[in-house]
Amino acid sequence: MTMKPAERARQVVEILSDYYPQATCTLTHQSPWELLVGAILASQCTDERVNKITPALFDHFPDPPSMARAPQDEIEVLIRSCGLFRSKAKALRGTAAALIESHHGQVPSTAEELMRLPGVGRKIANLLMGDAFGAQAIVVDTHCARISRLLGFTDSDNPVRIERDLSKVVPLDSWTPWGHLMVAHGRQLCRARCRLCFDCPVRHLCRYGMAVDEADQTESGCV
Ligand code: SF4
Repeated sequence: MTMKPAERARQVVEILSDYYPQATCTLTHQSPWELLVGAILASQCTDERVNKITPALFDHFPDPPSMARAPQDEIEVLIRSCGLFRSKAKALRGTAAALIESHHGQVPSTAEELMRLPGVGRKIANLLMGDAFGAQAIVVDTHCARISRLLGFTDSDNPVRIERDLSKVVPLDSWTPWGHLMVAHGRQLCRARCRLCFDCPVRHLCRYGMAVDEADQTESGCV
């Protein structure tokens, strides 16, 4: 592969942006608070399920004060179907209380402040920065990590190192879209168990895709 990684990444962004023009944040939200709640609930749960849960949750607890005051069991009943509901209810109450105590009930707009909130790690902080506050931030979820490795932009399993590797090659104005494009691609063509490399519009830019043999892919039942 003679093309420089940054040029390959630029072309991947360009092609996948055309291929997935609707790629955007898949958690339904109207405010930073709603996105923060959705992101906490989305741990080990699908965004689709979270989107079914949050309308009723936001009806009951539309802001940090109402969530902080809520009895734990009332939150648990509303989020029970998304798994780990006890620890998530605790995290939601703790986060709401921390917002009231330290941020006047508002969701802070820096990654450092976000990561000091209970239940908020780097992935959620970057999601908020990109999709609630309009900054450029690379969200390294399982799709992003896996596909970025396949494309050959990182060899790491560590999300922080993957983010660092990607930040060196992905154009700065595409850091937030990169995460959305990886999710869209991971769901449609570059699936975890069945990569459809021969239908993939970026195969000519992909380290794995250029090495894969069509016969192997067909024999694997992945057609
Ligand atoms: S060529 Fe295959 S491995 Fe590479 S991005 Fe496309 S589907 Fe994924």
